[in-house]
Amino acid sequence: MSKLKLKDAPKRAIFFDKDGVINDLTYNREEGIIGSPRSTKELEIFPYAASSIKEIQSMGYLTIIISNQPGVGKKQFSFREFQKMQDKVTRALSREGCKLDGEYYCFHHPSALISKYTLDCDCRKPKPGLFFQAAKERKIDLQNSFFIGDALIDVKAGKAAGCKTILVGHYTDFLNRMMKEEDAFPDHMIPSLKEAPKLLRSLEKSMIVVKH
Ligand SMILES: [Mg+2]
Ligand SMILES: [Zn+2]
Repeated sequence: MSKLKLKDAPKRAIFFDKDGVINDLTYNREEGIIGSPRSTKELEIFPYAASSIKEIQSMGYLTIIISNQPGVGKKQFSFREFQKMQDKVTRALSREGCKLDGEYYCFHHPSALISKYTLDCDCRKPKPGLFFQAAKERKIDLQNSFFIGDALIDVKAGKAAGCKTILVGHYTDFLNRMMKEEDAFPDHMIPSLKEAPKLLRSLEKSMIVVKH
């Protein structure tokens, strides 16, 4: 380790799920379901997102989005609309001087309606493909990194990647049953991304960084 130049040392990252963590979910009246926004109009970034991400960056972590976006393949919105939503997030964060270190998206779905996206891929969470890609490209130490998501597939994906997992949400009996059923227990739970910096700081104090 001592002979390694600092810039070559593997970096730690905080990976973020996007919908439900950085921006709010929306209610789709026609389908009667709560899910990912399908237009820039529907997309609302949480007011604390930029400051939380900036604080996490100040702790020395890379900040990277890992998100399933099957909406294009399911014809819920166009690729252009996806790009516009992505721009809206980037602009909202940059207004507060915050810039993410990376974004990785899976556009596939086994039953996508557009054939180029119809795929049982290795990058759709709960599979860890995007984490491995990010780790390879950005020299990330997955074992000492965290994944923050709002669904149990995020917990599963983070664990499969070898990261520690933080679930955003509120503990209920139903959630407890689902965790048991899915065998997906997060390492930590917080009500929102707003509480992430504080949690990470408290963990830093007690954390023994695993050396390879
Ligand atoms: Mg989500
Ligand atoms: Zn994929």
